[in-house]
Amino acid sequence: MHAIHLIGLIFVLLAVSLEAQETRIRAAQPAWMASSLAKMEADLTAKFGDAQKVRIQRGLRQVSEFWRMEDGDAASFEEFVRANFAGDQAALDTMFDRYQRLLEQLDGHMHEINREFRQQSDLDAGPVLSFDEVFAGYDPAAHVIDDFFNNKLAFIVLLNFPLTTLDQRLREGPTWTRRQWAEVRLGQRFDKRIPADVNLAIAQAGAEADSYIAQYNIWMYHLLHNQSQRLFPPKMRLLSHWNLRDEIKSDYADTQTGLAKQRMIQQVMERIVTQTIPEVVIDNPQVDWNPYTNEVRPAAVKDSDSSGKGQAVANSREPDTRYAELLGTFLAARKADPYSPTAPTLIDRRFDEDRELPETRVKAMLEQVLSSPLVSQTAKLIQSRLGRPLEPFDVWYNGFRPGSKYSEAELDAIVAKKYPTPEAYQKDIPNLLIKLGFSPERAQYVANNIIVDPARGSGHAMGAEMRSEKAHLRTRVEKTGMNYKGFNIAVHEMGHNVEQTFSLNDVDYTLLRGVPNTAFTEALAFVFQGHDLELLGLPAPDAKAEAEKTLNDFWGTYEIAGVALVDMDVWHWMYDHPQATPRQLNDATVQIAKGVWNRYYAPVFGKKDVVLLGIYSHMIDSFLYLPDYPIGHLIAFQIEEQMKKAGNIGPEFERMAKMGRVTPDLWMENATGKPVGPQALLEATERALTAANP
Ligand SMILES: [Zn+2]
Repeated sequence: MHAIHLIGLIFVLLAVSLEAQETRIRAAQPAWMASSLAKMEADLTAKFGDAQKVRIQRGLRQVSEFWRMEDGDAASFEEFVRANFAGDQAALDTMFDRYQRLLEQLDGHMHEINREFRQQSDLDAGPVLSFDEVFAGYDPAAHVIDDFFNNKLAFIVLLNFPLTTLDQRLREGPTWTRRQWAEVRLGQRFDKRIPADVNLAIAQAGAEADSYIAQYNIWMYHLLHNQSQRLFPPKMRLLSHWNLRDEIKSDYADTQTGLAKQRMIQQVMERIVTQTIPEVVIDNPQVDWNPYTNEVRPAAVKDSDSSGKGQAVANSREPDTRYAELLGTFLAARKADPYSPTAPTLIDRRFDEDRELPETRVKAMLEQVLSSPLVSQTAKLIQSRLGRPLEPFDVWYNGFRPGSKYSEAELDAIVAKKYPTPEAYQKDIPNLLIKLGFSPERAQYVANNIIVDPARGSGHAMGAEMRSEKAHLRTRVEKTGMNYKGFNIAVHEMGHNVEQTFSLNDVDYTLLRGVPNTAFTEALAFVFQGHDLELLGLPAPDAKAEAEKTLNDFWGTYEIAGVALVDMDVWHWMYDHPQATPRQLNDATVQIAKGVWNRYYAPVFGKKDVVLLGIYSHMIDSFLYLPDYPIGHLIAFQIEEQMKKAGNIGPEFERMAKMGRVTPDLWMENATGKPVGPQALLEATERALTAANP
């Protein structure tokens, strides 16, 4: 035992020192840099005075961190610095204003090209031809950062405006002026210079993992229960993990074989996580498989012409491909580390840059939800509704439902009559906003900034990125008029559009446009969506219905918080073991999933060592994305509770959205008086449990 550990340790140390060396070589500065820096510091300080000394030192250091041989020799470096340092406030103001205006133009027009190029695939406008797909996939902004380093516009920002760490933004951010915040966001646009081949490698690893996930289907008719019983219907093909999970949810309605089906899907999921699934059964209707015994046979019945992959019928296991793909994304992501000095790992970039919530705080918030006594109280309620002890797959229990007074058909009829065309919805936007508490003139102002288009899919919102453009609301309207589902989505998307309008057109600096991260715009959109019945002139959901919705969200947050912790631990393990094989990563992931389960779920479910928390496909192809989900739930509750407190949505919504893209905590402090946290969710759940328990 000890010896094995020691050998492991030596490998880790070796790997770490190799890694450090690699970083040093890549980030090496030209040999002349040190003397040029000293010379420039002296020159600029002599010219602009001691008052500018701190800015001069900072600017020179920032430029030197990114300057490469091919950017120029010592003479061109010095010439660049002399020509581009803004040595007094007036010069700095001019530079700031012009960058702000021109970057808004750049972003806005790039986005406009993007929107136009995607038009055929996004809108209900006839067939999508092969070249339409290429247009839709083209990103005109892909090389902007490279161009800005090459023409030195990026270096000018680095010479004059601050780069910051998350720690600084959290500690000092609350005392910064809005202009300082805008300068910080300007600096962040150029805080990394990742070479094109590294970005390409990351995109390729992501795409490869995506396509592995996209083909991971299980043919359900071919799952055998006992010797020959088929629980699922012919042709049913479920994609892991989404469709498998959703099937577990819908099986609650099947009082005959539902439980057997749910148990079987759990067994399939466990085989995927542990990679004991026979390789030949993946996306293959030509074999029958008993997931309990793991026996595989040629299919005794036929429900599809798909030939599978034509492998021999054997039960040899999938050879850790799941973990090879995950490892591929890690190895690619790590290539960017040396070029990202303020966030030198993917974990840092996800938490410090994308989320701007420190990992330790996120972890603490998730653990607070997971270890809340409300979990076992909710579990008891579920158990009594199911009339049986909980089983592990009940993490996906879906029986909390806000039952409605109206049938879907009744609602469809009301909506179709009101909105026979997209134009009818467009015309009604000001009225809808007035019902949500906006003054008539604010309602009209926002409505003037929204264009309704017929969507090809279910609908989405596409904001503008410059003030001269408008937000687009894409909504689905059938020939027979809009249906209730379409309306519900349209109201959600309209929430996005209203947020997009305020946070672009009414924010004080366009460099601060937007919200801290997607969880915020989603939360604001859900506020609108939650009032859709009132917008139709129908009564709002009653207290009982609201309690059911809250419990559903709480149970969902409990489930996904554990999944997120597994994702986080696995990424740490990979960074700690950069030389690991797929097999070792498989073992580690299984251990991590069991560990989180044993800590937070086993006491509730009465069963240890379950690996279900490792089933999410995002963990394989999405680069540590999963923590966004539970954080999103927490944020949504905070905003919703604040709206309830304020009573009137309109003015409160506008006040919140105008804050723009500062850190999540600062935004939330401004919105609700408290930083981001689970308190609002936990309080609402406590009330809901009282309301739901008879
Ligand atoms: Zn949304």
